[in-house]
Amino acid sequence: MTIDLEALYIDLHRHPELSFQETRTAGVIAKHLEELGIEFEEGIGRTGVVGVIRNPSAGSAESGDGPVVWLRADMDALPVEERTGLDYASTAHGLDPNGTDVPVMHACGHDMHVAALLGALERLVATKEQWSGTIVAVFQPAEEYGAGSQAMIADGVLDRFPRPDIVLGQHVTPLPAGTIGVRSGTQMAASDGLTVTLLGRGGHGSRPQATIDPVVMAAATVMRLQTIVSREIDPRDVAVVTVGSIHAGLKNNIIPAEAKLELSLRYPDDEARAVVLEKVERIVRAEAQASGAEDPPVIVTDHSLPPTINDVEATARLTLAFDTAFGAGTVMDPGMFTGSEDVSWFARESGAPLVFWFWGGADPEAFAAAQAAGTVERDIPTNHSPYFAPVLQPTLNQGVETLVVAAREFLAVPTA
Ligand code: ZN
Ligand code: ZN
Repeated sequence: MTIDLEALYIDLHRHPELSFQETRTAGVIAKHLEELGIEFEEGIGRTGVVGVIRNPSAGSAESGDGPVVWLRADMDALPVEERTGLDYASTAHGLDPNGTDVPVMHACGHDMHVAALLGALERLVATKEQWSGTIVAVFQPAEEYGAGSQAMIADGVLDRFPRPDIVLGQHVTPLPAGTIGVRSGTQMAASDGLTVTLLGRGGHGSRPQATIDPVVMAAATVMRLQTIVSREIDPRDVAVVTVGSIHAGLKNNIIPAEAKLELSLRYPDDEARAVVLEKVERIVRAEAQASGAEDPPVIVTDHSLPPTINDVEATARLTLAFDTAFGAGTVMDPGMFTGSEDVSWFARESGAPLVFWFWGGADPEAFAAAQAAGTVERDIPTNHSPYFAPVLQPTLNQGVETLVVAAREFLAVPTA
């Protein structure tokens, strides 16, 4: 029996789940792995699922399992209210880690990743006589927290299953459907998420002289942080300093005791990371001091993601394989993305090379029109937008094909 992939994708899209809560999704995956006759385990890194297809070459029992290819798909959704207007749009809600009821949407396309990987596994099972080796299918939770791959590693995923000779993964993006973007070397930025707590002294809104106002401190800090990229980093280098959240106070006539800022920082490598982190800390501390704070601010790192670095040799092989399979010119270099990923922990921790590529999900006609008008940034919704939804086809079929082509490139051809 074959999987109805479009129905599967629509079902996943209608039932998005927040990070580390992907229990229904994991159940859907497990059901399909079972039907495909693939051995699997659930609950790896809380909600992760790992499937293994062992297909040793006939008559080569001594050579073990052959090349081990890891195929990774992330499963989680985001606290975003869907506005795509699609008839299969999500109306789901969930509880975020604070216990707050939030709308939930597959605004990053991880539903497409799951559907494509299941489709690819079905194809690889059906064509077992054409390849040999071992496929490890990794359905990872909580990519959006930057915590899922490390949770799976902490749960022993590298020891409980065959260790990878190569790690492969893909992400759907608003490139025109039919195109593939992959870059040798640094494909995605490193990232840190920080929570900064500015400590003041609370009091009555009418008596500011008796307080140390953390609201003013926060405002000055946010503005000054923007000078890191604009004034202190070489304009030819890439760095991002975003304050995505700012919280202080409950009422107009109370000066609160503290303010919280949440920062998202991005850079291409560890050297730039050290430079930006030093500048952030210097500014945060100096602004507190300028405000007369009696206690220094508290800076906590919530997550830290390494840069996603594509292996040069493996990327060259894969680019050729994609161009051969889909036609010359299908693959383009999209440049380094300032987004970040936690897929590379699997490669870093195991010492295996990684290739992580992007495949297009935007309507090619809409994309071409926006490009001609110079309005791509405005008119083509990006990942995490409430309007982001890949066109179902050819995106889904190509997502299956790319994984099959990539896996086959690194698996062995069976010996007769
Ligand atoms: Zn995302
Ligand atoms: Zn994503």
